[in-house]
Order: sequence, then C-alpha cells, then structure tokens
Amino acid sequence: MQKTDKSLLSLFKCKEMKRLLFFWIYGLFFFVPMSGQEASFCQTVITDSVFSRINGVSYPEHCTTLLSDLRYLQVLHYNMEGEVCKGELICHHSIADDLLAIFKELYQAKYPIGRMVLVDEYDADDEASMQANNTSAFNYRYISGTRRLSKHSQGLAIDINPLYNPYVRWRNGKRIVSPKGAEKYADRSLSFPYKITRDDLCYKLFKKYGFTWGGDWKNSKDYQHFEKK
Ligand SMILES: [Zn+2]
Repeated sequence: MQKTDKSLLSLFKCKEMKRLLFFWIYGLFFFVPMSGQEASFCQTVITDSVFSRINGVSYPEHCTTLLSDLRYLQVLHYNMEGEVCKGELICHHSIADDLLAIFKELYQAKYPIGRMVLVDEYDADDEASMQANNTSAFNYRYISGTRRLSKHSQGLAIDINPLYNPYVRWRNGKRIVSPKGAEKYADRSLSFPYKITRDDLCYKLFKKYGFTWGGDWKNSKDYQHFEKK
C-alpha cells in the first residue's frame, strides 16, 4: 500500500502530470459553465460555413462592410406557443455583446419572438423576411423606397417581430405599410400580440443599451427597428 502511495506521489511530481492536472482544473472552471446557458448565447466571427450561406445573398460582392466587423450570434428565444427555439443573427461586432445581453433578458422573461433565422433564408428579401415575422439584423440593403444604405448594411440595426411592428411612412398623403399584410398592425391603438410600445420590455432593454427606436421617428414610424450609431 505504501508502495502504491509513493508511486502515485512520484507521478504527480512528474512535470508532465502537473501540466495535465493544471489544464484539467483550468478546463473545469472555464469550459464547464459554457456548456450551460452561456453556450446558448454566444458569438463567433463569420466562419467559412456561415460565409457560404451569406456570400452573394445578404453579403453581396460589392458589400463595403468588412466581414471581420461582423459577428454570428446564437441565442435562445420563446415563440408565441411558449416553446424554446434556437435563434441566429449576424450583427456588427460593436453591438454583439448588447444583443446577447438583451436576448438573454428577453429569454428569461419568456418574451415571444416569432422566428429568428438569417435573412439569407429569404434570399435577403426584406419584404419576405418581414412577412414571415422573422427577426433579423445584418442585410446589405437600401432603406425601403430609397437609394440610401440602411443601418442594417453595417449590422448596426435589428428588426424585431416585423410583421406585427411594421414600417409606416406617408407619400403624397398616402400611407404605405411594409410588409404587405401588416396594414392592420399599423394602427397602434389596437391590442395584438408582439406589439412593441414604450411600455414593452423589448423597448426598455434596447433603450437601456443605447439604441434608438424607429417608433420614435417623426416623419415615419418603424416599429420593428432598433439601431445604434
Ligand atoms: Zn430595420
């Protein structure tokens, strides 16, 4: 028995074993917590496999936003049926931590988000993504009805539950609502699910992290839209 103890002791005196033990303990403290909720709210650079999904779609050939400035986010969210879903987003690196913190709080509050997949699943067609009530951020595109680049082009804007929180503008006295089918949700005096108001948790969290809300704009209203300068 004494012999065994001694041989064990000599094993731990061995430099290589000490190194192994150090990495094992290091891993226990730093990587095990990542396997829980932390791992469900994470960000990475744009990997080759993510790039293959956006190349020539939301990230066109003439895109002036650096790929190295973008981050791929994975989060958990609840849908309207109360089911937990895996969501994904691409955004500018400067707001990645904000979005992870916001979506973590929304998840903890069971705030419903209809769908959250890359806009590339809709061929980067914003109208189609909005009609599907899809929450998304990066998309190299113009502001609807203009030739000005949207904040989405840099990944500095996000649209939440867009079908129920439409973009409303007026041209020659005529009201234009995007997406199609969202006209009934342009009347903000009505009560309906997913509606973002100033009393809403989603609004409060984005304000807390320094975003502005399209619902506060004067000349048009973009109730789904939050952006950061
Ligand atoms: Zn937007």
